Amino acid sequence: MRYAILSDIHSNLTALEAVLADLEKLGRVDEIWCLGDSVGYGPDPHECLEIVLSRCSLCVAGNHDLVAIGKLDTSVFNQDAARAASWTRCQLNKEETGFLTGLPLIVEKGDFTLAHGSPRSPIWEYITSGKEAEENLAHLKTSFCLTGHTHVAQYFQCRESCNSVRPEAGASLKLEDSRYFINPGGVGQPRDGDPRAAYAVYDSDTATIVFRRVSYDIAAVQTRMQKAGLPLWLTERLAYGR
Ligand code: ZN
Repeated sequence: MRYAILSDIHSNLTALEAVLADLEKLGRVDEIWCLGDSVGYGPDPHECLEIVLSRCSLCVAGNHDLVAIGKLDTSVFNQDAARAASWTRCQLNKEETGFLTGLPLIVEKGDFTLAHGSPRSPIWEYITSGKEAEENLAHLKTSFCLTGHTHVAQYFQCRESCNSVRPEAGASLKLEDSRYFINPGGVGQPRDGDPRAAYAVYDSDTATIVFRRVSYDIAAVQTRMQKAGLPLWLTERLAYGR
């Protein structure tokens, strides 16, 4: 079986469509899993949620999803994120709010745990270092953990300690006799210096994860963000991948 792992779509339809087109090129993909923050920041919440709703077989909630439905207050964010969250909240219809409201914080499926931030703190914790990964091992019931939230493609291989790796585009990771925390990077707002949409594909037959990057029309998204009146820095950062 082949699984596409998508995180932090952030209402960026152009990036999401580029990822789906890339998946088409790869051939058969059996399931798409979503690690949260499908909305927030970007200009296309309806279109992105429609795709997530219809295409993703597993999905967890992210902090932006919870702010968008009013489960968390916008005051938890900086000014730009809060403005985008308020805008997103006004856009969502009843069905979309209902979908986001029903999302679990953690899902366990086979060898994998899915959480937006971390198994210890699924909404807020950023796993950026081996130390944070190590501290989360006690909270992880499965061998592998899939997380997003940082918008950085990264994984941690845990034996005695957890070692951090920032995989190149196209790099593959064979899941061997270790425990792993794996972050596919962000689809809709990458922050690792590479502005291309990031995601990953897991092949259970070979126990391999491949980290993929896809170019998309960033200027088109920026134009829609400007029209929607979304904050300038959120618009600009897409071009930097920061
Ligand atoms: Zn995010």
